[in-house]
Amino acid sequence: MYEKIYLVPLDENSRGYADWLGQTLSKKMGFRLQSPLSSRLPEEAYNAKSNQYYAVPILSKLELLKGSEEELIMAVTEEDLYLPNQNFIFGQANSVGRTAIVSFLRLKPEYYGLPEDPRLIKSRLFTVALHQIGHMMGLKNCDNDCVMQVASSVNEVDKRPDGFCPNCLLNLTLPTKVRI
Ligand SMILES: [Zn+2]
Ligand SMILES: [Zn+2]
Repeated sequence: MYEKIYLVPLDENSRGYADWLGQTLSKKMGFRLQSPLSSRLPEEAYNAKSNQYYAVPILSKLELLKGSEEELIMAVTEEDLYLPNQNFIFGQANSVGRTAIVSFLRLKPEYYGLPEDPRLIKSRLFTVALHQIGHMMGLKNCDNDCVMQVASSVNEVDKRPDGFCPNCLLNLTLPTKVRI
């Protein structure tokens, strides 16, 4: 009896990563993967000045796609995301709507002029997604050796462990159990 989650690709290149993430979350963590949905980035979230998308309206739109309040929904995009007080973000979540979005644009080594490495993107995407899942399930950022550590650069993403610290595990407001 685990949490139900939808994975939603928002652009063509996100499809493979969204599928992989869904399968990995169900295999490693016991999430119940819901039937595939797809959607598009809402026009109104686009900021032409910075060529980025504002994360908040995307989350509101995602909430409408869910079947029920308890379900989790996570979108994946290759576009760059931002918040008004942050130049860019790797992801954003809302614990009330249980919605989240992750961007893999800045997880790609080629973004930093390094050789392509799809496996590295996937391992980064996993911890970025797990961090946002923690937020969706009510966790705050955490200073312990924990996936809930803040990451504001890709180096910090790489330093972050791929699991929750004992404190965060206790605080997961789950009606069910998450296996690590
Ligand atoms: Zn966070
Ligand atoms: Zn923690």
